[in-house]
Amino acid sequence: EDKLELIAQKIKHFPDFPSKGILFRDICPILKDPEALTAVTDLFEERVREAYPRVQLIVGLDARGFLFGPLLAQRLGVGFVLVRKKGKLPGPTTSVAYTLEYGKAEAEIQEDAVEAGQKVVLIDDLLATGGTLYAACELMKKQKAEVLGCMVVIELKDLNGAGRVQPESVFSLVQY
Ligand code: 5GP
Repeated sequence: EDKLELIAQKIKHFPDFPSKGILFRDICPILKDPEALTAVTDLFEERVREAYPRVQLIVGLDARGFLFGPLLAQRLGVGFVLVRKKGKLPGPTTSVAYTLEYGKAEAEIQEDAVEAGQKVVLIDDLLATGGTLYAACELMKKQKAEVLGCMVVIELKDLNGAGRVQPESVFSLVQY
């Protein structure tokens, strides 16, 4: 499809960033091109309307999930909330620890951000090992929200992040 091609064209590839041996996929050129950014939002919107029409809230992951999530939420007429790295959110919060390739991290949400029973869709720019999305799904469980599914712009298939996020499903626009 034309939109997917446009999006794929706009992704830049940086070898050895942020460390040696990592091929970093950069989505910044998508944001710089209004047509490409609209294409991303269009395809996410189509997916939600088809697969998750009962969605009540879009949940974006720190930090690049914040770039795509609010645009989508506005299209759908639902709210947007943030899952952040630990220590960034004021007020009472809930957190979940998870392992990274090297070391550990914690994902955090404001306690009143999501209500029990709310139907949510999670969004981020990229799925690698799935650790980040897994932690966000665990946070949703703690809040007793219902995860309808997860969406990312880019999925790195070899790392099998989708396996880690199971049983939640992950929809991606571009795969490597
Ligand atoms: P995971 O937890 O799935 O291993 O890593 C995914 C998280 O790391 C996402 O929040 C994503 O923003 C970030 N990330 C990891 N690798 C890349 C990359 O190559 N490009 C971009 N844009 N983000 C990445």
